[in-house]
Amino acid sequence: MGRGMDVISNFDLTDHNTFGLGSRAQYGAVVAGTEDIEAIVEFAASERLPLHVIGGGSNVLLRERIEGVVALMAIKGRHVIGRQDGGVLVKAEAGEDWPDFVEWAVRQGFGGLENLAGIPGTVGAAPVQNIGAYGVELKDRFQCLTAYDCLERTVCSFGPEDCRFAYRHSAFKEVPGRYVILDVTLVLPEPWQPILGYKGLDSLPADTDVLTVMERVLELRRGKLPDWRVLGNAGSFFHNPIVAAEVAEGIAGGPRYPQADGRVKLSAAWLIEACGLKGMRQGEAGVHEGHALILVNHGKATYSDLDRLASTVQAAVKERFGVDLVREPIAV
Ligand SMILES: Cc1cc2nc3c(=O)[nH]c(=O)nc-3n(C[C@H](O)[C@H](O)[C@H](O)COP(=O)(O)OP(=O)(O)OC[C@H]3O[C@@H](n4cnc5c(N)ncnc54)[C@H](O)[C@@H]3O)c2cc1C
Repeated sequence: MGRGMDVISNFDLTDHNTFGLGSRAQYGAVVAGTEDIEAIVEFAASERLPLHVIGGGSNVLLRERIEGVVALMAIKGRHVIGRQDGGVLVKAEAGEDWPDFVEWAVRQGFGGLENLAGIPGTVGAAPVQNIGAYGVELKDRFQCLTAYDCLERTVCSFGPEDCRFAYRHSAFKEVPGRYVILDVTLVLPEPWQPILGYKGLDSLPADTDVLTVMERVLELRRGKLPDWRVLGNAGSFFHNPIVAAEVAEGIAGGPRYPQADGRVKLSAAWLIEACGLKGMRQGEAGVHEGHALILVNHGKATYSDLDRLASTVQAAVKERFGVDLVREPIAV
């Protein structure tokens, strides 16, 4: 194996997922460089096993036993690589911790990522679901990325068009397992303007500084979301559904956000709460009592417990409102 990377059998992932689910993979390895990726792809192919990449494990639902090979992404590094018209270019390796990376950028005075502060996980996973919060999505700052193509066994680049970013979506979700993202380059706008339209940020003055915005975002997140280190969770478990205008009209109450294509985005949290499911518990799995969009592990939940609870929620919302909720965490 490249540079002494160890492939470990019966690899324990319990400390590598924010749900805190007990999980072991048939094989696993910590990958710290592109050579390691090439080696683990080769290993998985030679064993005829699927390869799964995991970063911070904050958007996955792990089975107790994962048949296949898991690559834990740990390639580190981040730098300012230059300036172009309209912004500063910063590049970070896939295994960098996203919240640390945002804080590093903000503390150097670079604005643009502060609304995305505190989202758990790694830089390499951020484009996969086009992370978003407080009125900003990754796509708004994206310049390009480098990925390893596991099919062609080559390193390739993706620009914004290639990524086909949409709400919690990208091209990478369409071909799971094909690309391993190695690094991401973002453009941080100069001059910088704060984005304060979101509730909770709108009380900040228009001439506020980037550090203040980041601190407010972190404070708002702490107030709203359970700490996954205390109560296992993966943040929002369902996407906010985007439905035809007629469907939205048939639902009395709840927030609605008209989309450019005429459809309407609804609040999944509102729909779940309206079904009376907020705070419900099925064994060790539950709907968080403070935030209906978050499913939690009360201690000893398994993949099956959370899968069952998610199906219960989806069935209730479908029956009452005729709306399909799509799950956000990826089942591995
Ligand atoms: C408390 C909490 C709050 C959250 N809040 C938000 C939020 O506000 N907004 C938001 O958008 N998300 C949010 N999330 C979800 C999560 O933080 C993001 O999706 C994050 O980008 C996942 O990063 P990760 O490294 O943990 O990915 P993982 O969970 O490890 O992986 C997620 C997916 O990405 C793939 N992947 C990971 N790394 C790579 C790579 N290098 N190359 C290719 N594929 C890869 C995996 O195979 C998997 O399919 C939240 C989660 C939690 C627990």
